[in-house]
Amino acid sequence: MSTKETADVHQQRTRVAIIGAGPAGLLLGHVLAARGIPFVVVEHRSREHVLGRVRAGVLEQSSVDVLAQLGLADGLRADGLVHGGILLQHESERFHVDFEELVGRTVTVYGQQRVQADLMAAHDTLGSEIVYGAAEVSPGHLDGRPVVRFTLDGEQHAVEADFLVGADGFHGVTKSLIPADLLAPSEREYDAAWLGVLADVPPSTDELIYALHRDGFAMHSMRSPSVSRLYVQVAPDERIEDWSDDRIWDALDTRLAVPGWRLQHGPITEKSITRMRSSVVSTMAHGRVFLVGDAGHIVPPTGAKGLNSAIADVAMLGEALAAESAGDDGPLATYSDRALERQWKVQQFSEYMTDLLHVPGSAVPAEEREFRYRSRLGRLRYIGGSRFAQQSVAEQYTGLAIR
Ligand SMILES: Cc1cc2nc3c(=O)[nH]c(=O)nc-3n(C[C@H](O)[C@H](O)[C@H](O)COP(=O)(O)OP(=O)(O)OC[C@H]3O[C@@H](n4cnc5c(N)ncnc54)[C@H](O)[C@@H]3O)c2cc1C
Repeated sequence: MSTKETADVHQQRTRVAIIGAGPAGLLLGHVLAARGIPFVVVEHRSREHVLGRVRAGVLEQSSVDVLAQLGLADGLRADGLVHGGILLQHESERFHVDFEELVGRTVTVYGQQRVQADLMAAHDTLGSEIVYGAAEVSPGHLDGRPVVRFTLDGEQHAVEADFLVGADGFHGVTKSLIPADLLAPSEREYDAAWLGVLADVPPSTDELIYALHRDGFAMHSMRSPSVSRLYVQVAPDERIEDWSDDRIWDALDTRLAVPGWRLQHGPITEKSITRMRSSVVSTMAHGRVFLVGDAGHIVPPTGAKGLNSAIADVAMLGEALAAESAGDDGPLATYSDRALERQWKVQQFSEYMTDLLHVPGSAVPAEEREFRYRSRLGRLRYIGGSRFAQQSVAEQYTGLAIR
């Protein structure tokens, strides 16, 4: 409960203040709630805005396990589509990487919007304190402890906490509390972007299709038995207005074509272009301040790792905060190193999948473009013919252990 301790600032104390009510922030709230640790989440967008964002769709087995352990998996058990593998494609040839047979694991296709809705509904049931629509959110320190200041309905608020967690995404404000020379992100920009669409049409495939084509990457994913999610590689400076629905379906038909298979078309209900970038900070912790999820690292979407990495960070940090509350601060002291060690393995896989399946941009000389394209074909054919290579893809795609 908020108390008005000074003339014009509503102050309150809690154990853990979390900035950002995306999947990372809300999931951390559930981990803490399960251990009886008080927390407050401060989000600058409205609840409807957060719920409306169309993003990730593939949950690693490890992510499903984390959600299930917290009793948050009813929706995904009911409506999630369990996939035992993926299809890789090049020059009109398609082959199956059978996760179940290769590593005994699966992934679940369940939209991030659904994950977000489930997390919100469970917080509603708990009566958690989640502030939406906070303005001027500003993290800082007061007497050596973190504090989050914000304005709500014109009134000023300050949440003092023992720990502050930045779950505020790539452009979040929590990072500002970590000195620049310690934060020191490593980054890579890609000369490709994804044009993604949602279409009201049943998927034309049972498994996700990742295709390399001379024109660029294409992917066929899905959100439900009646909604398809499809992507094509475009140049980073492409404008969505230049891509009519017909042009998008043409590109998809060309790039996903294999003999004897047809892509079903339907009304496109959403389309957007996302640039691709990799970025990893050098530390995920500084004093009593911690980062989780996109606040600390982002990946190109090709390996389906962004949301899954956020869930892995939260599982590790949540356990560490719980251990600290029980008198053991060891796991908290090693959180950043453990999270970054796992994250760099995830980064190299995301980069590997992105390089494998995308063609170079037009700035690359023609001979080199041809070389890189043929080299990628070589890699795909190697994977297609090697159980060892497929096992490696399967192990990484279905998710590394969370320790
Ligand atoms: C088009 C697209 C496709 C993707 N596909 C996949 C995929 O297939 N698989 C996958 O695993 N990942 C995918 N991702 C990545 C995935 O969506 C993110 O990694 C995931 O959302 C990270 O969760 P998060 O909670 O860390 O960050 P976010 O979801 O970004 O949440 C951060 C929250 O903090 C809030 N916030 C930001 N700044 C402030 C502030 N100053 N004050 C208060 N609140 C603030 C934001 O409003 C937001 O609600 C995709 C992303 C995009 C954009």
